[in-house]
Amino acid sequence: MWLSSKLKQILMVLKPGVVTLDYPNERPPVPQNLRGQPVFDHQKCIGCGGCSDHCPARCILVRDVCQELRVMLYEGSRCTYCGRCADICPEKAITMSNSFEIACDDKDDVTTRMELFMMSCQRCGRCYEMEKTNAIDRINLKGFRYDNLEQRTLIRKTSETFSTEMLKESDNYTRPSNK
Ligand code: SF4
Ligand code: SF4
Repeated sequence: MWLSSKLKQILMVLKPGVVTLDYPNERPPVPQNLRGQPVFDHQKCIGCGGCSDHCPARCILVRDVCQELRVMLYEGSRCTYCGRCADICPEKAITMSNSFEIACDDKDDVTTRMELFMMSCQRCGRCYEMEKTNAIDRINLKGFRYDNLEQRTLIRKTSETFSTEMLKESDNYTRPSNK
């Protein structure tokens, strides 16, 4: 009785044959319009910070090193691939790629870092006036955005976690390639 029951089970299992793929040796085609890892085009990016402000996972960080240099860091390990950053980007500088197999043991492998030169006013050629009431002007203020790129956390100058000591460290900023 027991043996015939087991034989029945074996036959039932063998009948459909192999229904799974030999992954990763055999990959199914990627579905059309799949939202995979976002890819940033630093040639198009104007450093407006819109993607950072609208990222629900808070994984796009911004640091204003000085008036002219804004560093942006995409921390891919927290990204949910929602695509909101790509939707919001006014310059179409973000593309949702079809890359999704990004398991890795080093966060830097899924990190994108951009150093952006923040342009001066096209009319007068000088850096923007620092009118406290003008949000666009404040974008160029040193420390207006000072996220903690090392700890990969979002910090506003207006938040309690901001310290002026951190801001002073900007003066010693060295580009990663020069370290
Ligand atoms: S895809 Fe979504 S979670 Fe990922 S960086 Fe863009 S807005 Fe943030
Ligand atoms: S929204 Fe687009 S242009 Fe603005 S900072 Fe993000 S990637 Fe750059």
